[in-house]
Amino acid sequence: TLGAPATPTGPAAAVPRAADGDVLLETVGLTKSYAGADGELPVLAGIDLKIRAGEIVALLGKSGSGKSTLLRCMAGLIPASSGTVSYRGEPLTGANPGTAMVFQTFALLPWLTVQQNVELGLEARGVPAEERARAAVQAIDLIGLDGFESAYPKELSGGMRQRVGFARALVVEPDVLMMDEPFSALDVLTAENLRGELMELWESGQFPTRAVVLVTHNIEEAVLMADRIVVLGSRPYGTIRETVEVGLDRPRDRDAPAFQELID
Ligand code: ADP
Ligand code: MG
Repeated sequence: TLGAPATPTGPAAAVPRAADGDVLLETVGLTKSYAGADGELPVLAGIDLKIRAGEIVALLGKSGSGKSTLLRCMAGLIPASSGTVSYRGEPLTGANPGTAMVFQTFALLPWLTVQQNVELGLEARGVPAEERARAAVQAIDLIGLDGFESAYPKELSGGMRQRVGFARALVVEPDVLMMDEPFSALDVLTAENLRGELMELWESGQFPTRAVVLVTHNIEEAVLMADRIVVLGSRPYGTIRETVEVGLDRPRDRDAPAFQELID
């Protein structure tokens, strides 16, 4: 899934960096169950969550705690079982027009070049070819892949492939960028580099998005990147047990091990 229809893009504009409090995305009483062999498997129960402009929110939890499910519900890629997900106050009826997704394993189309992969999201939104090309080149440049427009995914390292994944999501300038374990398929040093660069872009206001939701099972990563950490417990069924407000100023100075107990 390459994102939802949304308003076409212009050149990446500087984003106001203050957390201005605008609620972009909101879940109210969000519940999600999957049909299983023994009946319904409840995964999320009654989740109330707001994502505001200017913040990076980490959804932290163990494997199976429902992080991807929550992210997909917020992106409107799967329907809630009950409760609502709203984007800018409007309940979603399908794909969320204000979001774009970065996937753990990149999800690039191998038969397309870097540029063609990046243009996909714009194509789906009906952006004319010339404007698509211009926006794609700009996003590719922003994410550090200048010169690789004509390369194919198989010619790129994992880190570079994920850069393409980022460019493809950022090119549509989504209000909320969603990332589902975007660094966990990369080696430690590559992940560290990419995280650092993304944070620099974010903090410099060059990131063409107003909020970020980061799914991760990596506590250090959540602490490093997030303004707020939402912990999904794996018991009983992925209910948010605790929302750790890490603060909007220097969340990144917190002691990572202190959060370990929250996800055990
Ligand atoms: P996480 O991303 O935290 O690892 P998921 O949201 O992927 O967790 O999964 C939460 C639970 O829901 C797991 O028990 C998983 O097996 C189950 N699950 C996820 N997707 C489906 C699906 N499409 N059908 C049935 N069960 C699913
Ligand atoms: Mg997952």
